[in-house]
Formats: sequence, structure tokens, C-alpha cells
Amino acid sequence: MPKSAPRVDGTRLWSSLMELARIGATPKGGVRRVTLTPADREGRDLFARWCREAGLELRVDGIGNLFARRAGTDAGAPPVVMGSHLDSQPNGGKFDGAYGVMAGLEVVRALNDAGVRTRAPLEVASWTNEEGSRFVPTLMGSGVFTGIYPLEDILSHKDTEGTSVGEALRSIGYAGEARPHKVGAYFEAHIEQGPVLEDTRTTIGVVQGALGQRWFDVLIAGQDAHAGPTPMELRKDALLAAAELTLEVNRIAGAFPDYARGTVGHMQVKPNSRNVVPGEVRMTVDLRNAKDATLSAMAQDLKDTAERIARKRRVSISMEEVVYFPPSEFAPELVSRVRAAAQELGLSHRDIVSGAAHDAVYLSRVAPTAMIFVPCEGGISHNEIEAARPEDCAAGCSVLLHAVLATAG
Ligand SMILES: [Zn+2]
Repeated sequence: MPKSAPRVDGTRLWSSLMELARIGATPKGGVRRVTLTPADREGRDLFARWCREAGLELRVDGIGNLFARRAGTDAGAPPVVMGSHLDSQPNGGKFDGAYGVMAGLEVVRALNDAGVRTRAPLEVASWTNEEGSRFVPTLMGSGVFTGIYPLEDILSHKDTEGTSVGEALRSIGYAGEARPHKVGAYFEAHIEQGPVLEDTRTTIGVVQGALGQRWFDVLIAGQDAHAGPTPMELRKDALLAAAELTLEVNRIAGAFPDYARGTVGHMQVKPNSRNVVPGEVRMTVDLRNAKDATLSAMAQDLKDTAERIARKRRVSISMEEVVYFPPSEFAPELVSRVRAAAQELGLSHRDIVSGAAHDAVYLSRVAPTAMIFVPCEGGISHNEIEAARPEDCAAGCSVLLHAVLATAG
């Protein structure tokens, strides 16, 4: 019988987060713990020490993912895994990734304090190179673990200095031997990285899944012409077409349901001279949606619209799809456990989707998966000023604890 009901210690969680944030700390209060650098090693070493102190058994796999295991009463049951990532952007924040790993560790510490053993084993996971800023692709560790990328190929990827993933892993001492194992369920707590929770004064985001993405490279070819002698009706103005297409991307995002988003984030104008009608524009389009069919319909609308603009503006528009990432829907039974936990704890909550990709997206392909979001200040992330409140971090961790207990038995 358990000694007492397990409770998350919000102060301990916060001080662990702050101690971890000292590794790679930047002057503006962020962290620079880029994957497989000495700072990443230091972060891993600290996490590993805390895991040992909590009585966990640490294993490292071939891509350097860390799994800290707490035995269950049923040794044969696949573990319930909690995790996220310890690496950061070059000018990253204290909470992105680190929160999910520290929350998992706090759940284990709370269970230790209360003397509670679960039926299924528990694991706290830290996935290698979620950020993808030094080595591509992003979500590298979870991608290898779930079989999306072959390990051998990924180990040969190089950074801009010519160092391979394999060399970098060996240099920090985290090239492990563990093979991918079965996961019973996966929970990831994370800061929202968006403004919705703060804006609606909500503590817990019950994440339904992650938006699918379709990225396009667009080339608009018109004709350079003198800005004076060329009458308006005889122009082939590529920038005018690009401007119209940009507004249409915004129109498309507004016209479709299921959390539709549309963004033009990059544009290159040629010749980019004040008295020349622009003859060429290269631009990007990023479409996102929670439902695959709706995402496809958005892409079709984009193509039809581009053809119409090309005719009207007498330019050619070619579009190449460079990324397709299907939406992921999280496991309904796990998502409802997250919602129920928030309810039981009396925390304000709302259903939400993740606009960004997380390790949970890949894990959801091999195991029932759910995520818990907590607010971050101004919705700002991937920034040194990223901030979250201690009470929100503790609340998300309590939800994690309850949802994990309901799952692990
Ligand atoms: Zn993250």
C-alpha cells in the first residue's frame, strides 16, 4: 500500500529547472545548449546524476537518447515514458524541452517520496537533437528511435564544421548501445510556445495532436522592365503576383476549418532595384492543418489560386512541395486522461493543437501518445527571454503525474 498520495513538489521542480538552466546560460537569461556540444554533455551529466540519485537505471541508445527507468511491479509490461529534450536552440530558452524532462523526473521523485510503485515501469526520456539547429533533421533522436530514420545514415550527417553526428556523440561520451524498445504510452509536457493559453487565461492545454505541414518553394517568373517607360498594362510584375499570392495564402488560412494556418515567411525579389519592375520572385508558403484532408484541400486551393494569378498577371508560377508532414492525432484515451487529471485538480484547461512539431509526433506513430501544454509568457519561445511561471510548471507536472498513474496502474 502507498504511504501517501503522491504530490508534485513545485519548488523542487523549479529549482531543478533553474539549476539545469545554468548550464549554457546566456547573458539575457536564456540557454545555449546546442545538441552534442560540451554544454549538452554537461546538461546530460546533471540529468544522469539526478536520475541515479532517484534510483533510476539509465540507458543510452545508438543516437544518444537517454532512458531513465523506474521498475514497475510487472517487469514484463512496456514502460510508460515521459520526456522531451535537453538540447536548445543557439539562443534558446530555459523551458523548451527541459521542462518536459524535468517534469518527468519530478513525477518519479514524487512517487519515490510517497513510496508508490506502479505496475508498468516508468521511464524519463531525453531525446537527442530535437531542435535540429546544428545537425539536420530536427526530431533526430525520436526519429531514429521510432524507425523513421536509419541510425547508420543519421550518424553520418555532418554539421557545418564537418563533424558527424557519430563523432559528436562519441566526443561527449553518449554513443550508447541500447536498442529501441517497446513503449506502452508516451506523455510529453511542454510549454505551449504559442499565445493561446495565456490569452485565454488557461493553465493546461489538452493537446489533441499536432498540425500537419506542407511547405512549398514558389518561383514566380515575369520580366524585368524599366519603371518609367513600361506602361502598367504591359508589365509582367513578379512581385505584384507574389503580393497577391501572399494575400491569398492568408485568405486560404482563414477560409478552412481545423486550425488552418498559412504563412509566407520568405521572399527574394530580383533584381530588387527601386526603378525596375521585378522580373523574378522566390518565396515560400507554409500551410498547416490538424486534418490531412483539409490540409490537402488547402494545398489544392493554393495551386488553383496560383494558376489564376499567373494568368491575370502574365507571369509563370511554379510551385515545388519540399516538406510534407502529416498531422498527428494523439491517442483519445490518453488525451482524456490528461483532461480528467486537469479537471480533478481543479485546473482551468482547454483543448488545443500543437502548431509545432515535437518528439511526441514521432512517438505517436509507435505508441499511444499525449501532450500537456502549459502557458509561456507572451507565447514567446526559441528566444532567450522565454519564460514560464513556477505555478504553471507545477500544475502541468501534477497533470502529468495523474495521467501517468492512470496509465501505468
Ligand atoms: Zn521543444
